[in-house]
Amino acid sequence: MSAKVWLVGAGPGDPELLTLKAVRALGEAEVVLIDDLVNHALLEHCPRARVVHVGKRGGCRSTPQDFIHRLMLRYSRQGKCVVRLKGGDPCIFGRGGEEAQWLRARGVAVELVNGITAGLAGATRCDIPLTLRGVARGVTLVTAHTQDDSSLNWQALAQSGTTLVIYMGVAKLADIREQLLKGGLAAKTPVAMIENASLPEQRECRCTLEAMHDAALHFQLQSPAILVIGKVAAAANIEDAPENLLVQLA
Ligand code: SAH
Repeated sequence: MSAKVWLVGAGPGDPELLTLKAVRALGEAEVVLIDDLVNHALLEHCPRARVVHVGKRGGCRSTPQDFIHRLMLRYSRQGKCVVRLKGGDPCIFGRGGEEAQWLRARGVAVELVNGITAGLAGATRCDIPLTLRGVARGVTLVTAHTQDDSSLNWQALAQSGTTLVIYMGVAKLADIREQLLKGGLAAKTPVAMIENASLPEQRECRCTLEAMHDAALHFQLQSPAILVIGKVAAAANIEDAPENLLVQLA
């Protein structure tokens, strides 16, 4: 009999942004597979569990996805309660969907637990409302990094009227800038680049779309960082009452 595998979102880094459900899953876990973007302080919630690091950075070679799948399967078939702890939300650029499907196809019970995704946390920590009445009617989460390098429809994104939150964009800033400008987004569109969101070492850089690449070089922007592109990214620079914000940004 396989035990359950929990695919748990660890949030963006701040240990206080963990959900109560995640804490419960960690408390029940006998084995925890932890990704490298996850704050290791969270392991205080699973003092008895065996911890396996399956990170992809920090000088270690990437752990192949297939190996992680098999590891989860093996432990669950041993009847162990497994938690796979992933940065942010498991289903936002986190392969949570793939892992759940793979495990369920092999008869393993899976429960997904939300985490606060980096894009939402980063914006909030910089006082940027991702949606704002009359200014931004929606928000689009996008990854700049694709497995097959297939191109996004940047023109559609540029013209969507939504706030764009871009993950994994640090190495592709010049390209993102060019594509969005070509797609028709105004050169003066405000941008916030937020590094290490929600952690004590968080840094933010505000600029415009046209200055984005140069500003990042000057700022020495490092991964992990998210980009927030849209009128709302200027929000915290406006020191007025909330009711005036809308007028000034519109
Ligand atoms: N599942 C994660 C995203 C994983 S993809 C989530 O929901 O947040 C990895 C990318 O997420 C990084 O390249 C970066 O763009 C972003 N990211 C993750 N943690 C971050 C943090 N603390 N601050 C800024 N960006 C972060």
